[in-house]
Amino acid sequence: MSDCLFCKIISGEIPAKKIYEDGDMLAFHDVNPQAPLHFLLIPKRHIGNIMELEEGDAGLAGRLLFKAQELAVALGCGEKGARFVINCKTDGGQTVDHLHIHVLGGRPLAWPPG
Ligand code: 5GP
Ligand code: ZN
Repeated sequence: MSDCLFCKIISGEIPAKKIYEDGDMLAFHDVNPQAPLHFLLIPKRHIGNIMELEEGDAGLAGRLLFKAQELAVALGCGEKGARFVINCKTDGGQTVDHLHIHVLGGRPLAWPPG
């Protein structure tokens, strides 16, 4: 989508510190990290939010979830764990309308969210 920030990161129009990339997905460090490790994992195909997933996207969604945990472990969170977050629309606190999984680790995180 031409006016989508994360689509511009995928196309290279906006730079990002990339962690992982394949044909389906891209992981990159969050520009405003909320923990020592904070990266985002996004599908390369523009999907606005988790509520726009269709049944045919189940394989992609599973691969995203699996890659999120694989990268979290590879980046040092295997022992103490991490937080995997998907914000959705206004009440969910979503600010970029391209589906993304936040992975936060490297410090204890409070619950519940404010
Ligand atoms: P949301 O609030 O939609 O769940 O999360 C959007 C995230 O994208 C935020 O954590 C924000 O810091 C991050 N973000 C916004 N703009 C950019 C950018 O240009 N580059 C990177 N790497 N992250 C961004
Ligand atoms: Zn997009």
